[in-house]
Amino acid sequence: MKSGLPRVPGVKVRMNEELSVHTSFHIGGRARYFLEVYSKRALVRVLKVIANEKLPYYVIGCGTNVLVADSGLPGAVLRLGGAFKRMNRHGNVFRCGAGVAIENFLDEAVRVGSRGAEFLAGIPGTLGGAVKGNAGAFGRSIADLIDRVFLMDEQGAETVRTRNEIAFTYRSSDIGNGYIITGVSMRLRKGTSRAIRQSIERNLAARQKRQPDGYSAGSFFKNPPGRAAGELIEICGLKGASVGDAEVSRKHGNYIINKGHARAVDVLALAEMIRKTVRMQTGIELEAEVRLLR
Ligand SMILES: Cc1cc2nc3c(=O)[nH]c(=O)nc-3n(C[C@H](O)[C@H](O)[C@H](O)COP(=O)(O)OP(=O)(O)OC[C@H]3O[C@@H](n4cnc5c(N)ncnc54)[C@H](O)[C@@H]3O)c2cc1C
Repeated sequence: MKSGLPRVPGVKVRMNEELSVHTSFHIGGRARYFLEVYSKRALVRVLKVIANEKLPYYVIGCGTNVLVADSGLPGAVLRLGGAFKRMNRHGNVFRCGAGVAIENFLDEAVRVGSRGAEFLAGIPGTLGGAVKGNAGAFGRSIADLIDRVFLMDEQGAETVRTRNEIAFTYRSSDIGNGYIITGVSMRLRKGTSRAIRQSIERNLAARQKRQPDGYSAGSFFKNPPGRAAGELIEICGLKGASVGDAEVSRKHGNYIINKGHARAVDVLALAEMIRKTVRMQTGIELEAEVRLLR
């Protein structure tokens, strides 16, 4: 049966799209349909076709916190562009589309002199991905800033949840896979552009010192309570350990680096080896922060 997806207005459709180019790991097979969705109206139409044709679907932002299976993804991969990249502001409250890059949001905060989000500097990806995984750094997370999250369910119905109606925990939220985050509003405070820029630069410099170069999805494991996953991996002697082209960074134990031709199975085998070794040597169970899409 021919899919109706290529005919949905307001959507750019690519067939059999290589997903490795859409992830920071540079790993992953092909998506049957890769859809860049430009508006809420187009998103509603896409979801209708997906439901009618009973297609599995996935939402990605910049693909900086995912590992895509080597066999690729059946069905449709959705990415929010166009109107989802817009930002509005009333005073220090920012209403942003889920497709806005964190970096662009911070540039705007600097430009208008709104402070409080500088800890996000250097975290790649979109606000949608950041909200879903409660991204953060330096002991803070995006949940600290959130006022409301705008969602669309699989039937295309829109809902709004206030910060208190969402359970945000460390690198996680209870926003289920049946919801697409379409936007977020965040409350910042009045500051001066110069001081905000300086604070961002300090944070970027601190990250630069510990963040390895190369293809990765950032920290692979969540930090267990009271411990740093990278330190546990290091004391277990795992820095530099590898499976195929997937290697535990020598600079930061919690980064798995794709040296060029790593496959998802290599990353998963290495992650399993890390988990087992850390469990055996320390009794601590590591949990992946990176989400496997398959
Ligand atoms: C070098 C490097 C450094 C990093 N440092 C940090 C850090 O310091 N702190 C930190 O928290 N993270 C860090 N990360 C991880 C990553 O950048 C963040 O988690 C980021 O918020 C993910 O955004 P994304 O748009 O790339 O999401 P993706 O990786 O595309 O998606 C992540 C998850 O969110 C879901 N998702 C994405 N958009 C939506 C949407 N609109 N609606 C519903 N679900 C959605 C996806 O389905 C997936 O489950 C780092 C990554 C890299 C590569």
